[in-house]
Amino acid sequence: MGLYALSIQPLITSLQAASSVKQCWFADDASGAGSIMEIRTWWDALSTLGPDFGYFPNDRKCWIIAKPAKEESVREAFKDTSINVTVQGQKHLGAAIGSREYLEEYVSEKVTNWINDIAKLAEFALSQPQACYAAYTFGLKHRWTYFLRTLPDIQDLLEPLEDAISHMLIPAITERKCNQLDRNILALPVRLGGLGLGNPSLEARREYASSVKVTKPLVEQIVSQSHQLPEDSLTKLAQQEVRSERSKELEHRAERIKEMAPRKTQRALDLATEKGSSAWLTVLPLQDLGFNLNKREFRDAVKLRYDWPVEDIPSTCACGEAFTVDHSMICKLGGFITQRHNELRDLEAEFLSMVCSDVEIEPVLQDISGEHLNRGSNKAQDARLDIHARGFWERHRSAFFDVRVCHPNAVSYRDLEPQQIYRIHENEKKRLYSERVLDIEHGTFTPLVFTTTGGMGKECLKYHTV
Ligand SMILES: [Zn+2]
Repeated sequence: MGLYALSIQPLITSLQAASSVKQCWFADDASGAGSIMEIRTWWDALSTLGPDFGYFPNDRKCWIIAKPAKEESVREAFKDTSINVTVQGQKHLGAAIGSREYLEEYVSEKVTNWINDIAKLAEFALSQPQACYAAYTFGLKHRWTYFLRTLPDIQDLLEPLEDAISHMLIPAITERKCNQLDRNILALPVRLGGLGLGNPSLEARREYASSVKVTKPLVEQIVSQSHQLPEDSLTKLAQQEVRSERSKELEHRAERIKEMAPRKTQRALDLATEKGSSAWLTVLPLQDLGFNLNKREFRDAVKLRYDWPVEDIPSTCACGEAFTVDHSMICKLGGFITQRHNELRDLEAEFLSMVCSDVEIEPVLQDISGEHLNRGSNKAQDARLDIHARGFWERHRSAFFDVRVCHPNAVSYRDLEPQQIYRIHENEKKRLYSERVLDIEHGTFTPLVFTTTGGMGKECLKYHTV
């Protein structure tokens, strides 16, 4: 492409000398704007000079978009060619130039095709919700980004597309008929607690305005027919401004949505916006890495994220208590708690063994022989911590870690801020082990506190940053 642009440059320059048309080239796609006579001169020059550069214009594939009043004169001026003339409009580099009717017709046709794509995806989503979610967020939704950015005032034309997303795709993926609040939440980016299922009709205006702003320096160069690219710094600055305006607007929108939401949804959003809580939504569901969830796992995870009810669960637990989602997270029966703890412990140990020496799972602490430890310390013989590694915080020094997973929606934590919950657990673990590890092992102790919603405590975050 770069080489092609270079080799076609002499032709463009020659045409500039031969006519006063304003040209715009994209690869071999040439366009020119000007009066009828100017366009005619340009066309003749292109037909004469082109072949010497290996460029053979095909008049049958060319279009002139004329104002209705000029149609006859254009046809007359080009009657010896097979160039097409339209007063309606024509597509140009994927966007459209011409009358409003033409643009509306053009966009509506696109929208119809996109809706068909969504309907097809929604069909697959019944059995493969995670794969379809990924296909949509990584692929399909980017099909209209370009049109949102290049065509003005199309938000109304995109409403049928939004209908398809909210009434076909989302229910197929999540198994839930969303109300307006749910829909607004899911439209937010995942880092703000949404699912990144944006509303194209809502985004159209901003996307277009942003594009106009970022491309302004380039447009100015085209209008003045300069061959110089605009200053890189100008474009970069505009891009930065657009990006920060966009993220401010989204944050503002997220705040407004949260204010209107019931308390339990507010809490779900607080937990969903914690660092780490949304990682599972932004990965590709790769089987080799075990990232693929089956349909129930994926949908349950979405329901847990928003504290939506989970159906098809037994009414009483094997332990005798009433079975609820929150109970399932704290029930000691069935081994789920041990399992999630051990999985995290083993995973952390695996990571540590890549960078540290002497990595050991469930190391036994040395016994206490007369040392005086604070009240509250764990003084038991054969006390164990979850992981030992050498050289993590400091060279050669022993580092001990203990993993805890807590469920922030358990009755006892419901009224606490996530930060308070982490502190409770971190402090409890430290009271038990810090002094013993420091005084007797001459090592460091780090509690790794996780929540069932994917969040991490302060120490745990610090550990993962290192
Ligand atoms: Zn139970």
